[in-house]
Amino acid sequence: MSPLKEIFSDSGVLSRSAPGYRFRPGQLDLSQAIEDALQRRSTLIAEAGTGVGKTFAYLVPLMLSQGRSIVSTATRHLQDQLYERDLPRLKSALGASIHVAVLKGRANYLCTYRLERQQESGRFSRPEDARYFSDIVRFAGQTRSGDIAECTSIPETAPIWSMVTSTRENCLGQQCPNISDCHVMAARDAAAKADLLVINHHLLCADMALRDEGFGELLPTVDHIVIDEAHALPEIATAFFSESISTQALSSFARDCLESGLAYARDGASWPDLCGRLEQCVMDLRAQAGAVAPVPTAGSITRPRMAEQSRLSWDQLDGQAQARWLDGLAAIESAMDHVQEVLLINAERHPEIAQLSALCSEYCGRLAAFKLQQPDAMLVRWMEFSRHGITLRLTPYEIAERFQQELTRQPRAWIMVSATLAIGGRFDHFSRRLGLQDAQTLIAESPFDFPQQGLLLVPQRLPDPKAPDLIAQLLAQTEISDLLDAVSGGVFILCTSHRGVSYAAQWAEQWGARHPDRLVLVQGQAPRPLLIDQFRAHGAAVLIGSHSFWEGVDVPGRALSLVLIDKLPFAPPDDPVLRARSKWMEQQGIDPFSAIQVPEAAILLKQGVGRLIRSESDRGLIVIGDSRLAETGYGRRILRSLPAFSRTRAPDEALHWLTAAGHSKPPTETELPEL
Ligand code: SF4
Repeated sequence: MSPLKEIFSDSGVLSRSAPGYRFRPGQLDLSQAIEDALQRRSTLIAEAGTGVGKTFAYLVPLMLSQGRSIVSTATRHLQDQLYERDLPRLKSALGASIHVAVLKGRANYLCTYRLERQQESGRFSRPEDARYFSDIVRFAGQTRSGDIAECTSIPETAPIWSMVTSTRENCLGQQCPNISDCHVMAARDAAAKADLLVINHHLLCADMALRDEGFGELLPTVDHIVIDEAHALPEIATAFFSESISTQALSSFARDCLESGLAYARDGASWPDLCGRLEQCVMDLRAQAGAVAPVPTAGSITRPRMAEQSRLSWDQLDGQAQARWLDGLAAIESAMDHVQEVLLINAERHPEIAQLSALCSEYCGRLAAFKLQQPDAMLVRWMEFSRHGITLRLTPYEIAERFQQELTRQPRAWIMVSATLAIGGRFDHFSRRLGLQDAQTLIAESPFDFPQQGLLLVPQRLPDPKAPDLIAQLLAQTEISDLLDAVSGGVFILCTSHRGVSYAAQWAEQWGARHPDRLVLVQGQAPRPLLIDQFRAHGAAVLIGSHSFWEGVDVPGRALSLVLIDKLPFAPPDDPVLRARSKWMEQQGIDPFSAIQVPEAAILLKQGVGRLIRSESDRGLIVIGDSRLAETGYGRRILRSLPAFSRTRAPDEALHWLTAAGHSKPPTETELPEL
C-alpha cells in the first residue's frame, strides 16, 4: 500500500488520531493527484466538493515531500486556522518534524518604532484612540510575535492600528533604531527558515508584484505552492497588479511631513505652510469629486465593497469634468514638488525625512501615471469613492500573461484548490483568467448525499429580481415567511447588497418581536467572528449578511437549517473593471456575459449555497428568490454547477420537507390560527 493510501485508510494514522475520521475516496484521489503534481512540478487545478477534506489532502503530500512549500489561503482567518489547528494536528499524527511558520502582511504586526513615536507625540485624533493606545502599550509589553490579532480588546478595523503598524512606505528598514526587535523582521526571518510556510493571497500577490509586503527574496526558493480557496485569487491578483493612490495616503503623507519636519528639521522650512498647502489641495480634490461620485448600483453584489463605496470609470466623465480633475491633480503635484524640494534639502538630517522624500517621488510617479495613462495599455483608469476619500486606480483588465510569467519563472508545482472553481464540470473560466489552460484538472466529488440531504426551492411566484427592495418583497411573501416561521434551526439570510441587508434588518425587527426565542444577528452589529460564534451557540438564530458571509463560514448541524439567498449574485454591470474587460472580450468576438458574468455569479452562488450542508448528517433547505435560476438558459447553466440538491418550485412541498427532515417546530400558541 502506498504511504498516502495507508495514511488515509480507515485504519491509518489519521483514523487513529482523529475521532470520527472515515475514509473518503475523493480525498485520497485529490491527495494522490497533488502528490503527483508535486513530484512532476506541474500545475494542478482541483475542485474539492464540500466534505472532501481538501486541507489534509494537500497537507499530507506536502509534509511527505522533499523541498520547501508555501500554502496560501484567501484570508488571515483561514491562515490562523491552518497554522493553529490543522497543521499541529497533522504534524503530530504523522510524527513529522518539519519546521512550520506563518507570515502575514506587515500591517498585522506592531511596529515598535511607530509605537514609540506615538507615545512621544501623545496626539490622538479620536478620544477612543487614547483609550485603545494604553491597551496597545500593555500588549506591546507582553507579545512575542507582535501579531495584532492577539490584542483582542481592540477591533481589527480600529484606525489606531494604522498609527502603530508600518507600511512599506513608512518603514525605516535598515535605518530603523528598533530593527533588532522588529516584529516584521522577526516574522520574515522565521518565514525564511520554514519548510512549510502559511501565507495569504495578498502576501503572495504582493510578492509577485514585488511590493515588499511579502518577502520578495523568499518566493524564488520555494518548490511547491498550494493556493487554497483559489477562486479568490484572480480578484486579489488583479488588485495587486494595479497602481493606486488615495487622498487618505496623500493627507497622511502631508501630516507625516509636518511631524517629521518639525521634529528633525524645524528650521529647515516653513513646514506648516508647505504641508498645509498640500492638505488643502487634497481637500479641494475631494470636494470637487463629491459632485461626481456615483450612487452605488442597487441590488448588486457588494463583493469587495464597503456599503458606501462607489466606482466611476474615467471615461464616464465628460471632457469638462476630466479637465477639472486634471487641474486638481496638477495642483497636488505642484504642492508635492514644493514639499519634495525641502525634503531633499533636509534628507540627511534624519532617516524619516529621507524616507518621506523617497515616498514623495513614488506618489508623484503614481499621480503622473494616472494622469497620463495611455488608452491602449490594457489598463482601466477609474476612481473609487468612499466616506474616507477617493482612490485613483489603474487596473489591468487582463492578468493571464502576467500570472503565467510568474508560473514559468522557475520549475515548481502550483496547486490551485477550492470548493468552487468549476462551472458545469469545466475549469475554462478560472484557467483563462490566470493563463492556466495547460494545467491538469480534477474534480473530487463531495461524499455528501445532496439529493437526500438538501432541498432547493425557487418559488414559482417571485418579485422582479431587479427590484431595489427585492429582499423586503421576498420576506413579505407568506410562502417564505411561513418557512422562516416553521424552521426550528438557524437561518442565514444572504443578501447581494448592503442595501438588502438594511431591508432585511428592518424586517427582522418586527419578526424578532414575534419570535422572542430567536436571536437575530445583523452584519455590522459586531465583528464577523463574534456574530458567527453567537449564531453557532444559539442554535436557532437568524443571521443577515452580505458578501462576507457567503464564504468561509462553517456551521454544521441544525444550527444552520435554512439558507435564503435573495438573487443571483451578478457583479454590477457599471463596474469599471468589468466594463473594460467586457469591452475587450467583445472585441475578440467573445460574449462577456456568458464568459465572465455568468461564471462569476455561478462561483459566488456555489459559495453561498455551500454554507448549508457541512457534514454527512446535515439536512437543510435552500431558498433562492430569483426566478431567472429556473427560467433562463444562463440560470439553468448556473443551476447545473450547484450541488445536486432535490429541487422544487412549490413552497408547500418545501414546508413538508422541513417537517419530514425534523427541521420544523410545532406552532407556538400565538402562531395558531384563530378559530
Ligand atoms: S524596521 Fe520598520 S516595521 Fe520594524 S520597527 Fe522599524 S519602522 Fe517599524
